[in-house]
Amino acid sequence: MPRKKLIAANWKMYKNPTRTRDFFRDFLPLIAGHTRDEIVVCPPYVDLHAAVEAAKGSSVAIGGQDVYWKEEGAFTGEISPGMLLATGCTHVLIGHSERRQYFGETDDTVNLKLKAALEAGLTPIVCVGEVLEEREAGLTEDVLRRQCLRAFHALSGKKAGPLVIAYEPVWAIGTGKTATPQLAAEAHLLIRVEAAKAFGQEKADELRILYGGSVKPENAGTLMAEEEIDGALVGGASLDPKSFAAIVKY
Ligand code: PEP
Repeated sequence: MPRKKLIAANWKMYKNPTRTRDFFRDFLPLIAGHTRDEIVVCPPYVDLHAAVEAAKGSSVAIGGQDVYWKEEGAFTGEISPGMLLATGCTHVLIGHSERRQYFGETDDTVNLKLKAALEAGLTPIVCVGEVLEEREAGLTEDVLRRQCLRAFHALSGKKAGPLVIAYEPVWAIGTGKTATPQLAAEAHLLIRVEAAKAFGQEKADELRILYGGSVKPENAGTLMAEEEIDGALVGGASLDPKSFAAIVKY
């Protein structure tokens, strides 16, 4: 069975509730009737309610950009899986490179978050990818293996259920540099092998692996034509309704 592609928007720290409503007002008519791919938008926490309300009745799902692994407690500033669900979210990004780079996210916290999100019934989109120095030092494969191994630790194929992975070479995020489809496909194959080791071949064959890193309307078609690429995680180009709709319709 071919894997249904998933196109996800990561709005990072952009837009407020008003801008969120404006986005959906303009975006939804552009993708009306589009059923070929799944569409997810991940706005900042304060926009989630507005996004869920605005997307109601459409095929667009809403996700958080991060989550904590405890259900509640004295964890100032954090958000639990249950809170995301109660707000109407179905998806959540975990381990984005900006979280790893600036906010102390580690492979171990990614694992904790992944397990908590799955337990709660969210669809996690776990981000992995090498930085430029690692690629130049020939360490890409080691980095991806380590990130997957640690993220998948103590997780069975049965529990991994809806897991999605996003391969995002960090040197391609927000830089205008895109991995070639071949280079991305090589990384995706390696990730699939790691998933097969952790979850078994059947789950690995079903696993959707998105590509992220300067995806734009101009390059989305070529990237999506690659069999190993099961969708895209889009940052900058997802902020504009026309540009994100063009990517969705690649
Ligand atoms: C991202 O934020 O995950 C991302 C891929 O950003 P951009 O598309 O801007 O490179």
